[in-house]
Amino acid sequence: MSVADLPKIELHLHHEGAAPPAFIKQLAHEKNADLSKVFAADGGYAFENFVHFLSVYEAASSVLTGPEEFARLTTAILEESAANGVVYTESFISPDFCGGGDVGAWREYLAAIQEAADAAEAKHGITLRGVVTAVRHFGVEKSKASSLCAAETAGGFITGFGMGGDEGQFTQGDFSYAFAQAKEAGLQLTTHAGEFGGPESVWDAIRDLNVERIGHGVRAIEDPALIKELVARQITLEVCPGSNVVLGLFPDFASHPIQRLRDQGVKVTVSTDDPPFFHTTMRREYEELAKAFGWDASDFAELNQTALDAAFCDADTRAKVAKRLEHA
Ligand SMILES: [Zn+2]
Repeated sequence: MSVADLPKIELHLHHEGAAPPAFIKQLAHEKNADLSKVFAADGGYAFENFVHFLSVYEAASSVLTGPEEFARLTTAILEESAANGVVYTESFISPDFCGGGDVGAWREYLAAIQEAADAAEAKHGITLRGVVTAVRHFGVEKSKASSLCAAETAGGFITGFGMGGDEGQFTQGDFSYAFAQAKEAGLQLTTHAGEFGGPESVWDAIRDLNVERIGHGVRAIEDPALIKELVARQITLEVCPGSNVVLGLFPDFASHPIQRLRDQGVKVTVSTDDPPFFHTTMRREYEELAKAFGWDASDFAELNQTALDAAFCDADTRAKVAKRLEHA
């Protein structure tokens, strides 16, 4: 059996960013929307750099206009993930794209997403949990509305709160109100840092937002004191090697610091981020990591155990997912 056939846990996946291009094309066709600039000649998503990626992402998301579209999106994502051997996934769902930050509208989107997730679990044996996400470049006021949506729907399906978007804008600390509000509602926290921002952005995330996990965080490799801090605080990194390579942080998998972080005791996990944008899947991540670092089934078992321990889910769900890993 190839390591790529192993069951997988994924902790860092953006709901809209996981939309298969054919699915978005179909919606654009149904709605007579012109998305020609979103797609490249090969049928995939077209973008030149990270900021352009964010604008293509938002343009593609423009056809996701209501709860029904998000239900269909959820079905498409989970079918794709299950086909790649994923048995548990957390995805970032943003109230900005689901009702514009209005709590009532958000509840309708969430109900539709959850219904689709329940159906996918019954059919494919994959569990989805939602991490409500603020979009950093949409600003501080919108982050407060997002975290209020998160707080109002916390528990069960919604298990965490996080933030993604353009790290070049604002500081982590500017969003402390949103994160405190989510924490008070019992949600666990993560934020994107140490991707385009340097190690200092990871320090800010730890000090100012008190997060349990960091999205990416790979540039911690540049700061030995930060590595010690991550180890001491047992913070888990949601590492997305394929995404980092496509966006030019590292030239290839072999140069990626995931192995060096792991060697120094940092808790690392592996995810795809926005898989069709980065021409990747969880299978491919496993294959490339095995090729670059010689990881075998026991390395991937450790990786999955770290991910399971760091998953933002309740004990019953964790036990259920652990069984799926064992039975493989
Ligand atoms: Zn991300």
